[in-house]
Amino acid sequence: MIQSHDAQPPGAIRIIIVGGGFAGVTLAQCLERLLPAETDIVVMSMTNHLVFTPMLPEVVGRTISPLHVAAPGRQLTRRARWIEARVSRIDRAANEVHYATRNGTAVSLPYSHVVLACGCAADMDEIPGLSSRGYALKTVIDAIAMGNDIIGNFEAASAEPDARQRRRLLSAVVIGGGFSGVEVAGHMADLMRGIHRFYPELHGEQPMITLIHKGKSVLPELQHHSLSEFAVRKLRGNGITVQLETSVTSVDSQAVHLTSGDKIETAMVVSTVGTHGHPLIKDLKLRMEKGRLITGPDMQVEGTENLWAIGDCALIPNAHDGHPCPATAQFATQQARQLAKNLRSISDGLAAKPFSYHAHGILASIGHRNAVAVIYGIRLSGIIAWFLWRGIYLAKLPTFSRKLEVAMSWACSMPFPPNIVELRLPEKPTAGAAATGT
Ligand SMILES: Cc1cc2nc3c(=O)[nH]c(=O)nc-3n(C[C@H](O)[C@H](O)[C@H](O)COP(=O)(O)OP(=O)(O)OC[C@H]3O[C@@H](n4cnc5c(N)ncnc54)[C@H](O)[C@@H]3O)c2cc1C
Repeated sequence: MIQSHDAQPPGAIRIIIVGGGFAGVTLAQCLERLLPAETDIVVMSMTNHLVFTPMLPEVVGRTISPLHVAAPGRQLTRRARWIEARVSRIDRAANEVHYATRNGTAVSLPYSHVVLACGCAADMDEIPGLSSRGYALKTVIDAIAMGNDIIGNFEAASAEPDARQRRRLLSAVVIGGGFSGVEVAGHMADLMRGIHRFYPELHGEQPMITLIHKGKSVLPELQHHSLSEFAVRKLRGNGITVQLETSVTSVDSQAVHLTSGDKIETAMVVSTVGTHGHPLIKDLKLRMEKGRLITGPDMQVEGTENLWAIGDCALIPNAHDGHPCPATAQFATQQARQLAKNLRSISDGLAAKPFSYHAHGILASIGHRNAVAVIYGIRLSGIIAWFLWRGIYLAKLPTFSRKLEVAMSWACSMPFPPNIVELRLPEKPTAGAAATGT
């Protein structure tokens, strides 16, 4: 039986935001400021916190603690109600959101407007065999598991008599040379190099990371050939083997198989490519492209009156250049700001405005105190770009206490080696899908 959870006086406006990530939290914060106090703002999210994804590779590399990259939704918003639950269905005919509580009770909540900000899910089924042993980097748990398993593989290798198995345990493959692939490969290499000296049994062996990218150059998001080349040089200098114009055809229990016909024996496969539509979005049976729900310029979902979508789950045209917005946190937060203004305009009987945004810059931290950046059209690379990356992302990290914790961790990670504690986690990570939780 579905229970109703409606504590709202009849006729009052309720806006339900599905998702407590960059888009959902920013929208709730802006609506709190723009809408009258009697408007009920509800955030429904599978987790009680926002994950600051740009710093997840640093958690993998053990330069910062996992809890430093998560900020609780209840501390980021003031009067919005936060419901930690998995939304299972949007009933457009009845204007109700259906969700399941932790003990499995099905509950429905009516809405005046619903905003989908539920992100996208990692697609681990695109490559045969990947879903059973690949890691995706989307959640804090994924990042903890990856760092932990790198240490675990070193422990296993140091006790392994067979040289071939030792090499396999010390090898990791990262699929995808976009931002997250390059960043995670860089931080994994830093971690492996930093811990190697604590394993004297392995001094004759070299840990190996291979970055597989199907395009001609890494970091295509930068649209700057020289910066991509710089990144490849630095990655190679950091001991990472970069294979361009290569794809993975399949993954089995021992190795990754490539289009070139080669195989790489490895104990760790990280995938940063492939996303598919969120099940909640697919279920709506509305027009989608590349797994994202198509919206109008004002972020209203095509063919609906009170359904809106922002962030990674939405395909929103950018009035600034006429192109669809990229799936980045930078765009997700800007869309949330504009949507809050649009919802205010609608409540005042005014027209909503199209989304228009010109990104000021783009940065990637590629490991070994190196970064690449394009800020206001100026290209930067190396240690200056790395300091800039740290400064900008520290400023963007929510809450003062998180900023302080991260700044202190960074300071400590300079003179001290990484913590090599291996936690015995129960099983492999979640495969990171935003659709599956954590
Ligand atoms: C490793 C990594 C590094 C990145 N680095 C950068 C960077 O440097 N700069 C940048 O701009 N972008 C970066 N990104 C991209 C950025 O993380 C995304 O674009 C951004 O998170 C999108 O925000 P969102 O709110 O749409 O989705 P998300 O932040 O993914 O939030 C989705 C929310 O929806 C919730 N949810 C999902 N399904 C349900 C459900 N059924 N019911 C209830 N709640 C649900 C989730 O729990 C989550 O809270 C990076 C991404 C990764 C993975």
